[in-house]
Amino acid sequence: MIRNGLDYLGTFYICSSNDSRKRVGLIFDERMSLHNDPFYADHVENPNRIKWIWEKLQSAGISKKCVCLEAKSAEDNHVLSVHTQRHVEFIKKVSSTQLSRKDRKLAEHNDVYYNQGSSQAAFIAAGCVVELAMKVANGELSSGFAVVRPPGHHAEAEEAKGFCLLNNVAIAAKTILDLDFGIKRILILDIDVHHGNGTQHMFWSNPDVLYFSVHRYGNGFYPLFSGSHTEIGTGKGKGFNINVPWTRDKCRDSDYLAVWQHILIPVVRAFKPQMTIISAGFDAADGDSIGGCSVTAEGFSTLVQKVMEFSGGKVVMALEGGYDRDSLERSVLACVEVLLEENLTYEYCEIPLESTQQVIKLSTNVGDFAGRTHTSSHISE
Ligand SMILES: [Zn+2]
Repeated sequence: MIRNGLDYLGTFYICSSNDSRKRVGLIFDERMSLHNDPFYADHVENPNRIKWIWEKLQSAGISKKCVCLEAKSAEDNHVLSVHTQRHVEFIKKVSSTQLSRKDRKLAEHNDVYYNQGSSQAAFIAAGCVVELAMKVANGELSSGFAVVRPPGHHAEAEEAKGFCLLNNVAIAAKTILDLDFGIKRILILDIDVHHGNGTQHMFWSNPDVLYFSVHRYGNGFYPLFSGSHTEIGTGKGKGFNINVPWTRDKCRDSDYLAVWQHILIPVVRAFKPQMTIISAGFDAADGDSIGGCSVTAEGFSTLVQKVMEFSGGKVVMALEGGYDRDSLERSVLACVEVLLEENLTYEYCEIPLESTQQVIKLSTNVGDFAGRTHTSSHISE
């Protein structure tokens, strides 16, 4: 459904399709802003993040060129495709009942918070990514961006973690594979500066999903003990989990582009995904104090552009992290422009850091690298 109306800031917004060009979807709902830290208003993962992005897309005139979708709450059977019944029940009731002492302790330990808006926000965030992915899967849309929170990639099957309650991207990927869209292989590309431990575990033995993550690792960086290059999946899924762990901060566009050139693109070419879902965290952005890296908005959009030629251009982006207002706004805007096939020219000449060359060597020296051998047999099945 195409949507026009008043957003929660009282500003009139217009969304319309542009039939002569790419049909790019946007999805957002103000109810996701009701999830907030009840004890600490300045929490970095706060409602302003999606508000900033939405305002920026409006003021830049981008939403007029896109198809805005009506948000939907995720259906239980979709959420249950990657989460346990117990976790689904827990997230459903977390806003309406008093947390037990044990659950309070666990939330604190796992870096999550809950308030009266959390249950609804979590199910809408997951539902938005599913809805957008379905429209792209069935060809109604070419690609799209889901402006959602709480983020998802740290959420485990039975545990909320790292600001994440439900694993939005994993739910969408598994739902698309389970339904009758004819999509059998999905690339999940995680560009958030943190490793997506939850997503990795959910597809650990599944060769239908290639999980590829570039993130900081070690020296106490969150999440601890997850994201090594040696974690490559198991059983039939062995080789379909690829981690490229930065061993230092200050990685730039050139470092990411080198990884794309030397690892991601060759692997994706072999895997032949029919859809790409991007865990679109922007905390590796220049100016984001949490990530400590310096990827530019143009850098992010170039990384997205380089995967658009695969999976028939079916690219779904779902917001994960990103906590600096300026870089968050500019990065999302640049990525949506690329989905619209606007502003495609970007030249970057700096050479990668020396440590990046070592990381690339390490990541490519793992046995069954990137499932290339498995991929060939898998695809020919
Ligand atoms: Zn992050």
